[in-house]
Amino acid sequence: MKACIHRGTQQIGGTCVELESQDVRIVLDIGLPLEAGCACDDPTSLPAVSGFSQADPSLLGVVISHPHLDHYGLAHHLPSGTRFLIGQAAQRMLAAADPFSPAGVHLEPCIFLEDRKRIDLGPFTITPYLMDHSAYDAYAVLIQADGRALFYTGDLRAHGRKGKLFDKLLRLGPERVDVLLMEGTTIGRTGAAKGFETEEQLEVRLAAVFKRTAGMALAWCSGQNIDRLVTVFKAARRAGRGLIIDMYTAEMLRATGNPHLPQAEWEGVRVFLPSNQKRRITAAEVFHVAERYKSRRVYPETLAAAAPRSVMIFRPSMADDLDRAHCLSGARMVYSMWTGYLRDPRTQRVLDWLRERDIALEECHTSGHAAVADLQRLRRHFAAASVVPIHTQHADQFEELFGNVQLRKDGEPWDV
Ligand SMILES: [Zn+2]
Ligand SMILES: [Zn+2]
Repeated sequence: MKACIHRGTQQIGGTCVELESQDVRIVLDIGLPLEAGCACDDPTSLPAVSGFSQADPSLLGVVISHPHLDHYGLAHHLPSGTRFLIGQAAQRMLAAADPFSPAGVHLEPCIFLEDRKRIDLGPFTITPYLMDHSAYDAYAVLIQADGRALFYTGDLRAHGRKGKLFDKLLRLGPERVDVLLMEGTTIGRTGAAKGFETEEQLEVRLAAVFKRTAGMALAWCSGQNIDRLVTVFKAARRAGRGLIIDMYTAEMLRATGNPHLPQAEWEGVRVFLPSNQKRRITAAEVFHVAERYKSRRVYPETLAAAAPRSVMIFRPSMADDLDRAHCLSGARMVYSMWTGYLRDPRTQRVLDWLRERDIALEECHTSGHAAVADLQRLRRHFAAASVVPIHTQHADQFEELFGNVQLRKDGEPWDV
């Protein structure tokens, strides 16, 4: 088996790995590069893989480890008929996002990844392992071919709501792995050495913030970070508040197909339709989407009265709606995403908006990626494997942290 990391040896984002055996190939992830200011979302950003620009039957399939842009974001440029391997809930979420966001996409045809359910594709045996990550339905994958075994971590962590999956991998993971293709997102980031807060700890912290907020408690988080939505929901309940979600978020929760996760129909959950999402629903003519939340809606006229008893999921696109609803007296904003985005020039508009309205911003977040100590636990489990860094800006630190490291270069083929 041969491998080539087309993108990812030196960066977080744009991940793409090609594996070859007996003249056929599979690809692991086809991500959008995330460099600031990069206009990457065009076909010229596609890695040089045969079958990407025009169909090639020797490309057997493209595995999408999880529904984050940096892992699937260039998929819509692939020729029609390209076969994707992705979790079924992940595929549904991306399709449900389509009317609301340019990041939405219909991926088909698909073979669905299921936890520990082996897939045979030509000479490749693919075994997915459901993992804990800030994206829902995220997998690590074991790829076996020609008597060799490569384990690709995808993105993972051990401190989320599904942290047990990480321990299960260490307890009941693959027996023999020759190459561990391991993400190292948090290396070099603040707090990565000592470990991160769990979602449960974050829930307690959020509840305290909600309790000392007089008016509307706004929670700025990703509508696709299902773990975090659960955390916000539970924290709201601890604080005796209901949760108001926007319709896009309602659709993401619904697309999980998981009745154990908060849903629009649940007691204490209401759905708000911001004007920008209303326009998108109209443009895409998907009126059935708005229709299904009819009985759960909260309208602008009642937001001000609901504010002291509510936590509302916030997106920058709804700022004008909130102004018009006059519901921001005594409001507070919780920022629950990666702190780095706060330095992004595109975020400044929202920060100005908050300052002008005297709304305090508090950061309450925990990483979607494993702390270094957890990566070291993972590495120790696969002690016989060599480690190849991916999805990191600090490949140079891998040798010291993990040992037996093979540094690779983007675009350079090697034998697994
Ligand atoms: Zn990623
Ligand atoms: Zn991710």
